[in-house]
Amino acid sequence: MNDQPSAANAPWKQRYEHDLVSTFSTPPLLLDRGEGAWVWDAEGRKYLDFLGGIAVNSLGHAHPALVEAVTRQVSLAAHVSNLFASAPQLELAERLKRLTGAGEAGRVFFANSGTEANEAAFKLARLNRGTGSRTRIIALENAFHGRSMGALALTGKAYMREPFLPMVPGVEHIPATFEALEAAIDASVAAVFIEPLQGEAGVIELPAGFLSKARELTERNGALLILDEVQTGAGRTGDWFGFQHEGITPDAITLAKGMAGGVPIGALVTFGAASQLFHTGQHGTTFGGNPLATAAANAVLGEIERAGLVENARIRGEQLKQLIAGLGSPLVAGTRGRGLLIGIALAQPVSGELVAAARDQGLIINATGPDSIRLAPPLIIGDLELREFRDRFGAALAKVAATTADSEPTTRKVTA
Ligand SMILES: *Cc1c(COP(=O)(O)O)cnc(C)c1O
Repeated sequence: MNDQPSAANAPWKQRYEHDLVSTFSTPPLLLDRGEGAWVWDAEGRKYLDFLGGIAVNSLGHAHPALVEAVTRQVSLAAHVSNLFASAPQLELAERLKRLTGAGEAGRVFFANSGTEANEAAFKLARLNRGTGSRTRIIALENAFHGRSMGALALTGKAYMREPFLPMVPGVEHIPATFEALEAAIDASVAAVFIEPLQGEAGVIELPAGFLSKARELTERNGALLILDEVQTGAGRTGDWFGFQHEGITPDAITLAKGMAGGVPIGALVTFGAASQLFHTGQHGTTFGGNPLATAAANAVLGEIERAGLVENARIRGEQLKQLIAGLGSPLVAGTRGRGLLIGIALAQPVSGELVAAARDQGLIINATGPDSIRLAPPLIIGDLELREFRDRFGAALAKVAATTADSEPTTRKVTA
């Protein structure tokens, strides 16, 4: 035996940096366990989790409905491959057709993540060839659709694509304006990809009527309207799906994050004639749609339905926005978003300081840019969590406002 301390005893940040590919910055906390809207770190400190694993933990942590379903299913059969069917998979496909309104004509393809659901959607778009000349795909500037190569080509952030050029060809990015939409869509377009709310970009809303306009133009030109509901789906925005807010019917939607409460899953749901585009052998997956993940999604979506959590997301989201306005902080310029997907616009580029100050107050929130904060708490939050949020977020804002005021007296004197 040697006398060196074992690697397992080194401080965890050192181990993280030593052992994991540095695609992520070193995390500030090592989390141990959670319950409801609360998580505990390895030192036993407790945090109110208003990020929910980035809009994933719909039921919060360790919800009995999810624990029971996953435990039960793993003891029966976690995986059987797509050479065989399973009851949870059939149940989930039927549930998604019902909840999305895809109905009888709808079809579902299961994947394991958001980016994979979008890869399936990208291939669906390629199959919408028409007479052969439909090769263009339209997506929006600042859109986020994932990190695998097809989804990355759809993603409207040049800095994410550039290190990995060349991209899969055919994708064009346009600003989210009616004029750009009208100019871009003609009979050479196979599909238009849109997020109903741009989550990763900072919970940015589309102009009112934008989805309806996109529906009208795609329908007239034979292009598919494909909505990326990876972040907005499963009740997050106060509707089951973001598109329902505008009352349109898309040709396909993609889902993932909040659908199975943390068990990896993704799905492509097709509507109407788009359901007939894929043929046997044209796409596949080993894990996608396995009994473990689909049983988890059935439990989560079933509980959202049973407990009225879509409605709760709508009500609590409104209360949360009012409460943030009520704090009267000079650092808050406004709020965006719907339901429990909320962006906070900051009056100064202090999101990093604010996230750290919130963490010191025992609150987890997320910076989507230097002057924007994202909240995506579990859909189960109630009065208690809102009160705790108000106290903790209010204290964090006050602390950051005090330090920014201290550091700027001269600038203010000059400009006053
Ligand atoms: C998170 C996200 C994705 C990517 O999902 P992954 O599971 O991380 O691959 C795609 N689209 C949107 C809108 C997202 O928010």
